[in-house]
Amino acid sequence: MYRITLQFSIFLAIISSLWANQKPSVLITGANRGIGLVFAKNYLADGYDVYGTVRKLDEGAELKEMGATVLALDVTSEQSIDQLAQALKGKSLDILINNAGYYGPNPIGTPAANIYRLTRSEMDLCFQVNVMGPIFVTQALLPNLEAGKQKKIIHMGSRQGCVTGHKGGGAYGYRVTKTALTQVMQIMHAQLAPKGFIVVSVEPGHVKTDMGTAGAALTPEETIPKLKKVIEGLTPEQSGRFWFYDGSELPW
Ligand code: NDP
Repeated sequence: MYRITLQFSIFLAIISSLWANQKPSVLITGANRGIGLVFAKNYLADGYDVYGTVRKLDEGAELKEMGATVLALDVTSEQSIDQLAQALKGKSLDILINNAGYYGPNPIGTPAANIYRLTRSEMDLCFQVNVMGPIFVTQALLPNLEAGKQKKIIHMGSRQGCVTGHKGGGAYGYRVTKTALTQVMQIMHAQLAPKGFIVVSVEPGHVKTDMGTAGAALTPEETIPKLKKVIEGLTPEQSGRFWFYDGSELPW
């Protein structure tokens, strides 16, 4: 009996030492370009196992070359989300960054999709990508995140979704859905924080990407390392709140 107990203790010690030595891991959606790609680069440089998702696998070449595991994902497709969950079955994940986002057909700087030109299909796509995407990707990956050590769920919010701040008229789909995403973050926090999760929204600043346009104030290289630091330093008390890349808290 003593021998069995001893063997079991050794087995447990090996498992826990393997667990302790495991590399941290992060999954970033929409990692083929823009902010997602720079997030992947920064986490890889820091020794993380990086899972980067792309809609079209042939657009994941740069990500793969950098050392990330490239996985297909269209956040609007239930089937695609199921396939992602299957591909990751049994793997633990420390951090999920729900980064994939859609602004609408009008980039910042051109006349926005105002009330005269807004279409149902634009609103619908914004909801599918910016709200349903983060909800159902998180739902599918909860077993992986529950098995991870950090248990961090990060939503890419936007000050454009802040009801007390931005005052322009237009970009309905983007702004309404980023407002809704803050509510998603709140609800998720209320449910998952008691299980040890940290759920937040973050904002990278106005960043030069296809979405942010060349006129943006910041490059992803300037802002993403800072945002990564904010994510690293998150405490349970900061869960359920909205954080700027410089570490300050944002109103909703
Ligand atoms: P980009 O437009 O440059 O990149 C968007 C990414 O999302 C691409 O990888 C794109 O993939 C992916 N994506 C879009 N639709 C889907 C979908 N249906 N399924 C899976 N992936 C999809 O945006 P940014 O890098 O600038 O933005 C990243 C996040 O940061 C967004 O959530 C955005 O709202 C947020 N943000 C950005 C700001 C900025 O100034 N840039 C400011 C505040 C917030 P594909 O290449 O296939 O289209």
